[in-house]
Amino acid sequence: MKKRNTILVICAHSDDEILGPGGTLAKYAEEGLDIKTIIFSLGELSHPHFQEDIITKTRVREANRADKIIGGKGVKFLNVMEKDVKESKKQDKAKKEIERIIQKYKPLKIFTHAADDAHPVHKIVNKIVLEAYDSLRLKTEIYTFDIWNLFKWKKEKHPKLVVDISKTFNKKTTALKCFKSQFGFTGFLNYYPYFAITIKGLFQGWKNDMKLAEVFYRIR
Ligand SMILES: [Zn+2]
Repeated sequence: MKKRNTILVICAHSDDEILGPGGTLAKYAEEGLDIKTIIFSLGELSHPHFQEDIITKTRVREANRADKIIGGKGVKFLNVMEKDVKESKKQDKAKKEIERIIQKYKPLKIFTHAADDAHPVHKIVNKIVLEAYDSLRLKTEIYTFDIWNLFKWKKEKHPKLVVDISKTFNKKTTALKCFKSQFGFTGFLNYYPYFAITIKGLFQGWKNDMKLAEVFYRIR
């Protein structure tokens, strides 16, 4: 039997995989695991003034570049449009696709969005991934990450996974630089994502006796 060595990341937008578990993915890649990233949507709603195909090409290119930096083994886009993601038909289609991917790789671990993430599309991705997983009866650990909550004050009932990212934090910030089209901020706000991942990494590190850390919660 083939050894299971795939880590699957399933997220809403290209850049979520870096903002959330980027340091952890880079670390796992250095340890010889295969990182596969699945991205639901190209986030076209955030750029209504651009033509769709231009955004698509740019975002695919950015995601592939970032994937190389963290040592990933490829990015797959499900091409669900953000405006359609609430439709149950589209959700069913995405769920089937996720089931197929999980069955194909039989991953060691899956990382996806937290159910209480502030972004509605992140929440939907969490729901679809869990539905797909629960229909399969595979033994895979599923962990969630937050994107926009800087701190999590709420008490979590799920077991915690703390990963020391002190040595791979550089790769995380370098990979984040690939997503220039994504942030759409100007001036000082352009630095917000870097500021956010640094504060978060330091805060989690301080809480767990490390320099920089990423924290996940095991929900399955
Ligand atoms: Zn996102």
